[in-house]
Amino acid sequence: MSQHPSLQKHRSSPSAIIVGAGLGGLAAGIHLARHGWQVTIFEKNRHAGGRMNVLEEAGFRIDMGPTMLMMPEVLHEIFSIGDRDPHDYLPLTKLCPAYRILWPDGTTLDMGVEMNCLVEQVRRIQAADAARVPALLAAMKAKYENARYRFIERSFNSPLDLLHPTTLVGLLKALPLESVYQMVSRYLTNEKLRQAFSFQTLYLGISPYRCPSIYALLPYVEMEFGVWFPIGGTYTLARGLERLFTELGGQIRYCLPVDQIAIQGRAAKGVRTADGCEHLADIVVCNLDLPSAYQKLIPNALRRKYSDGALAQKDYGCSGFLLYLGVKGLSLTHLPHNSIVLSENYNEVLDQIFIQRALPTDPAMHLCVPTHTDPSLAPPDHHVLYILVPCPNTQSNICWETAAPILRDRTIGKLERLGLIPNLHQHIVFERWFTPVDFEKLYGCYAGAAYGGLTPTFFQSAYFRPHSRSEEIENLYFVGASTHPGGGVPIVLTSGKLTAELIRKDYYRQILRTN
Ligand SMILES: Cc1cc2nc3c(=O)[nH]c(=O)nc-3n(C[C@H](O)[C@H](O)[C@H](O)COP(=O)(O)OP(=O)(O)OC[C@H]3O[C@@H](n4cnc5c(N)ncnc54)[C@H](O)[C@@H]3O)c2cc1C
Repeated sequence: MSQHPSLQKHRSSPSAIIVGAGLGGLAAGIHLARHGWQVTIFEKNRHAGGRMNVLEEAGFRIDMGPTMLMMPEVLHEIFSIGDRDPHDYLPLTKLCPAYRILWPDGTTLDMGVEMNCLVEQVRRIQAADAARVPALLAAMKAKYENARYRFIERSFNSPLDLLHPTTLVGLLKALPLESVYQMVSRYLTNEKLRQAFSFQTLYLGISPYRCPSIYALLPYVEMEFGVWFPIGGTYTLARGLERLFTELGGQIRYCLPVDQIAIQGRAAKGVRTADGCEHLADIVVCNLDLPSAYQKLIPNALRRKYSDGALAQKDYGCSGFLLYLGVKGLSLTHLPHNSIVLSENYNEVLDQIFIQRALPTDPAMHLCVPTHTDPSLAPPDHHVLYILVPCPNTQSNICWETAAPILRDRTIGKLERLGLIPNLHQHIVFERWFTPVDFEKLYGCYAGAAYGGLTPTFFQSAYFRPHSRSEEIENLYFVGASTHPGGGVPIVLTSGKLTAELIRKDYYRQILRTN
């Protein structure tokens, strides 16, 4: 193994370069800077937060990515440095219900509510299933505890990590290898209820029919820890992280993409930015999507496991089509902050997204009205509507230039037809959309896969997911949704912590070795 340049030079303060100021990059930067590292982040865009982005135009402030924050203690933990009050950085409001599921026939179910309330609602949909809901959520709680303490909060970088007794126990508990949908179906007989407790895998970019049941935990997390929204919008979190990072002495260079990892022998020694300058550091951390990082920043000849061919063979998650609307003169009091609008034919939609890779004909969607919780996000008498439609990634044959207006009309038409927002199109005063191609172009997501690149199948999770320490290049690390533990805001923040711990451990191990 080559030696860290800092050890050779006996400098006291080690240095790190991070490629990308997404949540993962910011979190890793914070955890390194707080331990005295000199950290510089190079970010291709003009904002921090990556996919946690915001659109500020015409008096509207519209979150473009995440809208539902979970595991608030993980979100606040990162701000608990010194005598800081996490609430100064991230003031959170709990949403109740977390969201309402709406089916086209008018059936509804509020999720993220107290157990009694949930059971009562289930009773109205299918009386026989009501008594089984507590057992299902208890099983999900066990999945959560297994996943959190045996997988999410542990690094997986060597076969020994996999063979660790804690992990082996966790793996045994994760068996049998049934899907989330199959697991839920062991408890509930009603098809709508099965959908309600399994569709959440779409947040991970994978179908509930395929997602391993180790991930059957989100309904429990939503109910137990709540779903939260920051006043000022979700982007408040990105701003808070950016502020904390700079308070700790970190530097962010915006609008300066990295176009190559500078490599000497088989070790990273820094990066080359688009302006042609080379910047040196003891270690380099890539926050951009891992497959894109390998493909774009490291010559193919230097890669074995992650060659261009191998990357193309991997399994990538679905994407999303987003509509950001500003509307005027609508009373939306009948809608909660978050709604999940499902489709007439659930199988058909999943089939279109994951198998046929076609444009959904009857789009399912997440509809968010953040102005219910924070009216300051729009001018008076206006609302913000955020609509997220799961759709195939760019490995499909869809031409988004022609498809986007079609999907836009289907989505708005559906909300009108179901009577959820009658005459919606007449009230739109501001409108933008965002397609899978935009995910590729703006954030560098491989195949435009919006949620974390690699699908979290069993063989792309934990030890089998790309490691935080590069398996190809020394002194190179990864952080973010496409590496362990995976996608989602609290999980990516955890990834920042794990990667920073690993970097520090490796660094001090080197020091011990050389002394
Ligand atoms: C539409 C949508 C909705 C979501 N909703 C939720 C939700 O409600 N709740 C939740 O918990 N999670 C949600 N997620 C998931 C969550 O947003 C992501 O898991 C998380 O933001 C990913 O962060 P990251 O740091 O891994 O990656 P990114 O945010 O992609 O950060 C990577 C950064 O690298 C930069 N970059 C790329 N190439 C270069 C280069 N060459 N040089 C320099 N910089 C570069 C990018 O600009 C970007 O800033 C959602 C995701 C999407 C897409």
